Amino acid sequence: MKTVAVWLAIAVALAGCAKAPRLPAAESPPTPTASSQSGPVVDATPGAPPTPTPSSPSPGGSVAPDPAPTAAKPPEDTRSGAGLDVPYQVNGIIVVSPKHPISKKYVPELAKSGGLTPEAKKALDKMTKAAKADGITVKIRSSYRSYAEQAELLKRKIVEYGDEAKARRYNAEAGKSEHQTGLAVDLWDGRTWGDAIRNTKLGKWLWKHSREYGFILRYPPGKEKITGYIYEAWHFRYIGADSRKFKPNDKMTLEEYLGIA
Ligand SMILES: [Zn+2]
Repeated sequence: MKTVAVWLAIAVALAGCAKAPRLPAAESPPTPTASSQSGPVVDATPGAPPTPTPSSPSPGGSVAPDPAPTAAKPPEDTRSGAGLDVPYQVNGIIVVSPKHPISKKYVPELAKSGGLTPEAKKALDKMTKAAKADGITVKIRSSYRSYAEQAELLKRKIVEYGDEAKARRYNAEAGKSEHQTGLAVDLWDGRTWGDAIRNTKLGKWLWKHSREYGFILRYPPGKEKITGYIYEAWHFRYIGADSRKFKPNDKMTLEEYLGIA
């Protein structure tokens, strides 16, 4: 009887000992009380659990608020220094903007004429032809600009407007303009330029049909906070086949489409 009682006492004491160090260890990292063997092993784990446990079982986690055409999460733009010689891309689509600049070293391959990449030029020719068939003249007002040219342009516009903030709203800083990619083009009919383009036959036709030819209206109205630029009825950006995901007169921005807004 005595021995049983002693054994019981030992068992209870052991159980208590075993439990004591484990419980707090799971919450707070270091428990100096634990014996040499169980101590470090138990302590090593608490750091890890919080991450895999809550994140992995929740599929989708936070549900994307808008139409999320791109399934995978876009890569973060971690470029800096020489990394800026190569533009930020999401799903093969180049993004150059105030948030995603490029260095002066980035010079795209350009077609023999037009100041666009060969692919973009081909698409523009096709679109120009289609517009002509609808009785609309499409002319290039501005396309490729080098880093140095962009810097010069902004400087000139600040003087011209006499209003630096306004000049900056319409004109990108060097390294932050899509015009340096050879994928952006400002279009007009050869007569009406500026904001008035939105009400011209050309402006309306382009916003409706450009997506059929690989182009999107890059800075739609009301999206200044997302794009960094005011509504530009003349500025079109070649993105290739993805443009078909944009509806006629769509106000969706490239940033929203790529999930980086
Ligand atoms: Zn432009």
